[in-house]
Amino acid sequence: MLLLVEGVPGMLQGIAGIAGIAEDDGYGEGEKPLFSAFLVDLDSPGCRVEDGATPMSGEHIESDVVLDDCYVPATNLLGEEGKGMRIALGRVTTNRLLHCPTVLGATRRAIALTLDRTRTRKVAGGQPLLMMQAIQHKVADMTTDFYAARSMTYAALAALDEGREVHAEAFMCKLFVAESAFRILDEAVQIHGKEGLTQSNEIEYLFRKIRMFRVLTGTSEIQRNAIARLLAFNH
Ligand SMILES: Cc1cc2nc3c(=O)[nH]c(=O)nc-3n(C[C@H](O)[C@H](O)[C@H](O)COP(=O)(O)OP(=O)(O)OC[C@H]3O[C@@H](n4cnc5c(N)ncnc54)[C@H](O)[C@@H]3O)c2cc1C
Repeated sequence: MLLLVEGVPGMLQGIAGIAGIAEDDGYGEGEKPLFSAFLVDLDSPGCRVEDGATPMSGEHIESDVVLDDCYVPATNLLGEEGKGMRIALGRVTTNRLLHCPTVLGATRRAIALTLDRTRTRKVAGGQPLLMMQAIQHKVADMTTDFYAARSMTYAALAALDEGREVHAEAFMCKLFVAESAFRILDEAVQIHGKEGLTQSNEIEYLFRKIRMFRVLTGTSEIQRNAIARLLAFNH
């Protein structure tokens, strides 16, 4: 587990190593605070994990790591002193990208369920839903959105694997994957009719799950801000 510890004495009591950094390299007025990254064993005395709030998906995916008089030896320093923020932010880019396959998997499942539904659900004149042009257009848009989202995610992840910098691509992927998945799930619910609104139906669950990704790991607004900032300063 990665923990960021602000270099301020007293934040983690009893840690000579961290207090030393703060006292020796402490920041003055107008200077930026220094952060260092430490590894902390979750079963260390004074460290506990508390269940966080339950989001709309009903999953337990959030928790707080509480450190209360937790002793962490200086040898647990991760990377260089004062460079913890760089480690954390570097991880954020990867983390943002790693959420995309999760969203794509759930979206692919929703499309499969929707196609199945359109083939089996008979409407006016005994025709399957998929024979209706209005439904065909929805399904065409859903699969096109999915193809685009998956393609850009694969491209960004391949670049990351090659060791290339993918800051802008990570923001773009998170934005497009989350927004397109929401559009797809909204149509999936629409095509499922009442079934799509019914609790215990998988589409209803997937809609709630996917809705969260326009907020978590950085909202769509913040992704747009970041893309615009990179365009403003890098071009
Ligand atoms: C289940 C769950 C899991 C999470 N997992 C992660 C995770 O893995 N990693 C992670 O980093 N975060 C995670 N988060 C936190 C999530 O990223 C934040 O909730 C999110 O960044 C929004 O912050 P906030 O809730 O404080 O909203 P606020 O900051 O109050 O924002 C409210 C609204 O205002 C908009 N807004 C705020 N500032 C601006 C601005 N400058 N310009 C334009 N619009 C703005 C926001 O986009 C949002 O729509 C998780 C949250 C949940 C619920």
